Amino acid sequence: NQPLAEVDPEIAEVLELELNRQRSTLEMIASENFVPVSILQSQGSVLTNKYAEGYPGRRYYGGCEFVDVAENLAIQRAKSLFGAEYANVQPHSGATANAAVLSAIATPGDTILGLELAHGGHLTHGMKLNFSGKLYNAVAYGVDPETFQVDMNVVRDKALEHRPQVIIAGWSAYPRQLDFAAFREIADEVGAKLWVDMAHFAGLVAAGLHPNPVPHADVVSSTVHKTIGGPRSGFILARDMELAKKLNSNVFPGQQGGPLMHVIAAKATAFKIAASEEFRDRQERTVRGARILAERLVADDSRAAGVDVLTGGTDVHLVLADLRTSELDGQQAEDRLHEVGITVNRNAVPFDPRPPMVTSGLRIGTPALATRGFGDAEFTEVADVIALALQANPDVAALRSRVDALTAAFPLYPGLQQ
Ligand code: PLP
Repeated sequence: NQPLAEVDPEIAEVLELELNRQRSTLEMIASENFVPVSILQSQGSVLTNKYAEGYPGRRYYGGCEFVDVAENLAIQRAKSLFGAEYANVQPHSGATANAAVLSAIATPGDTILGLELAHGGHLTHGMKLNFSGKLYNAVAYGVDPETFQVDMNVVRDKALEHRPQVIIAGWSAYPRQLDFAAFREIADEVGAKLWVDMAHFAGLVAAGLHPNPVPHADVVSSTVHKTIGGPRSGFILARDMELAKKLNSNVFPGQQGGPLMHVIAAKATAFKIAASEEFRDRQERTVRGARILAERLVADDSRAAGVDVLTGGTDVHLVLADLRTSELDGQQAEDRLHEVGITVNRNAVPFDPRPPMVTSGLRIGTPALATRGFGDAEFTEVADVIALALQANPDVAALRSRVDALTAAFPLYPGLQQ
């Protein structure tokens, strides 16, 4: 039982370098966050040793009396946080949760209707190389070419045209809220199941800053590691028990074998934290930070240097910079921000004239920095650094030192050693 540094110095070095990278840069990938040390503890614990196929009280392995407690806590807390009667906390990831959901509510060959991938949808909502596009007849609705927002008339027209068995509401890159009640009406009109994938905005829902899809949807899936800020993993909710058996059996044994009990314990802690005042404050800073970012980036704002923002703003934790008329493409903009110490990802904008590996957009998120402690003043400074960095010939060294000042003022994982 020697320490990692002795057993495997090369991997120990990776851990140390990654910790230093996270500490010394500004993490603005919209799907990332920093888990608290309490969650690192569960994830690095002896629970990783335990096999527990099955569900609490009905396992296929002995010795599950303690991991049962952890899973039951995670289930109870997830249900109470989102007002659901049913929760499954076993999915290893958002993608496995989604695979289980689709296999529970659709049959291969069925038609599924989701948001176009290039307009902000997710791979698991019907992309042709993903299981969802291979097993199902995937059709899509796009955003409006003028407003860049989802138009419920278009969703309804597509639903009436294709008569899908499943309608999917949810996104990976979209800066506005969806109208779940309107999705419900359309699903009822065409006899479809409504599945909401709240992977991105679940933390905002938990904090009461975003409408809750649970009362409207037949099933809701999510990740735990984005706005919620918990361990990398997924979970599934439903407002009632109607689909409970099907959902459970499509997670295990349908998609997975043994659940990751160390991660499930960490999920329980994440849901506990998500019910706290501190969490609500963090989500408020997240949303306000994204609004500040959008306001200070937009082209007609004389305080900042002028970067277009899709839909002109945001209601959530991310901003989509629109570089279609900029000299910098998405790849160059991502690289430029990397040089000044800000990590984001390039992202196709709807109707993007540039190829998918290059793109004309950036997805910029505030959750990780809000977790780091940033408030309005810091997000204003970050917005100005980004706006300046995206201009022609910026003073990279000067911007990097402004980033350094921010990272120094908000130390990440103080005292932690890897
Ligand atoms: N669903 C949505 C909407 C997502 O944005 C993501 C992650 O990017 C997922 C599902 C998949 O999550 P994971 O990466 O954990 O498989």
